[in-house]
Amino acid sequence: MSQDKFDVIVVGAGPAGSTAAYMLAGAGKEVLLIERGDAPGSKNMTGGRLYGHSLEQVMPGFAKEAPVERKIVKEVISFLTPDTSVSLDLQSQLLLGSPKESYSVLRAEFDRWLAEKAEEAGACLVPGIRVDDLYRQNGRVAGVIAGEDTMEADVVILADGVNSLLAQKAGLKTELKPHQVAVGAKEIIELPEDVIEDRFSLNQGEGASRLFVGDCTKGKIGGGFLYTNRNSISLGVVCTLSDLPGSEKTVPEMVEEFKQHPAVRPLVKGGKTVEYSGHLVTEAGYGMLPKLYADGVLVAGDAAGFVINIGYMVRGMDLAIASGEAAAQAIISAQGDHSAHALSRYRQLLDQSFVMRDLKQYRKFPAFMENHRIFQDYPKLAEELMTDLFSVDGAPAPSLIKRVLGPVKKVGLFKVAGDVWKGGKALS
Ligand SMILES: Cc1cc2nc3c(=O)[nH]c(=O)nc-3n(C[C@H](O)[C@H](O)[C@H](O)COP(=O)(O)OP(=O)(O)OC[C@H]3O[C@@H](n4cnc5c(N)ncnc54)[C@H](O)[C@@H]3O)c2cc1C
Repeated sequence: MSQDKFDVIVVGAGPAGSTAAYMLAGAGKEVLLIERGDAPGSKNMTGGRLYGHSLEQVMPGFAKEAPVERKIVKEVISFLTPDTSVSLDLQSQLLLGSPKESYSVLRAEFDRWLAEKAEEAGACLVPGIRVDDLYRQNGRVAGVIAGEDTMEADVVILADGVNSLLAQKAGLKTELKPHQVAVGAKEIIELPEDVIEDRFSLNQGEGASRLFVGDCTKGKIGGGFLYTNRNSISLGVVCTLSDLPGSEKTVPEMVEEFKQHPAVRPLVKGGKTVEYSGHLVTEAGYGMLPKLYADGVLVAGDAAGFVINIGYMVRGMDLAIASGEAAAQAIISAQGDHSAHALSRYRQLLDQSFVMRDLKQYRKFPAFMENHRIFQDYPKLAEELMTDLFSVDGAPAPSLIKRVLGPVKKVGLFKVAGDVWKGGKALS
């Protein structure tokens, strides 16, 4: 491999960058994969669930060798008030089977494995180097600058994550606004494998995903999450940045109190926190997509804003993997022409894939979620409704319709109906 010029430089060895490097190296390209962390995954964070379909497309049967933790067979969504949890619980073997299977993952292991696959395919991985700038020649991107070093390439893929300063330098996107981004904080809490299986009613190797709305963010826009790993639990909170000024609690304080909630404390009891991390997550979806390519450069994964957060589901890794694959395919099919015109194939490939289809489908959801009733009034409504339904104190029992309408009227019948209608529209 030539020392001073590569066919492709990929910045960032997360799911997007390592997938692109894997595909390109497999197609015979000379690829340099640069990662600022000491090892791929060391700087990365996720809630913890990988929807496997897009990696299955790139590497059929990947789950047999990848360091996935547990197959998710249990989905629980809970509305929390300070004292109460009202949940919807699905446990089913129907969630299993390729390509719809999903897995809990720990990024330190998973990202290292994926980057190793890129290396095995022939990519040159250089960890511990931060790319500071883009190198330009004749007005187009022609490589990267890291410290004193300039590395040249025919084309550069920016897969450097949510706050991609390089995509900004390339003129592809503008600085993130506070309502377009959320702050996540997460703990990994160690517990023995059999304790996890007992507590969450799981068979060996099966996993649970739990999402929480309400008291976990103290009524702010966001939510809590909990994923079971093999012998640990990933637990955290995500809160929209624009909703944090004036908040009585910081996000780390929210995590601490979330762990103490009466519905959560028994799940993590006796566990030992072995890792703590914080990270940004994009929130604005289709409405904030940047320009995806220019002469000599493409942007993929979080750097391009490819994240779907629809409350009961957070997806970024499957989109990152698919966009890394599309970026690689666009470069391969460009056959040496790295002009913006030739690289526009990238956008076409994304438009034909689930990435743009799903982002478009849920484009109204971020605006719908900017509604505090979801995080303050509805958990309370669920608490009142359910505690009333299940309380027997000898007093005359009101009719079912009165029991339901009482708490609904407190929020406002028209407001509730309007929110249900808008929620349905945002998801349809
Ligand atoms: C709290 C939270 C919960 C989430 N939960 C889920 C979930 O359950 N499921 C899901 O699918 N998604 C989830 N996501 C989103 C998911 O983590 C991301 O969408 C995914 O990691 C994006 O992958 P990526 O490769 O684009 O970027 P990243 O994973 O962020 O990788 C970018 C890489 O680039 C490197 N880098 C950055 N700058 C430079 C530089 N200048 N030079 C060299 N290297 C650089 C970084 O170190 C990193 O390794 C969550 C995110 C957060 C924050």
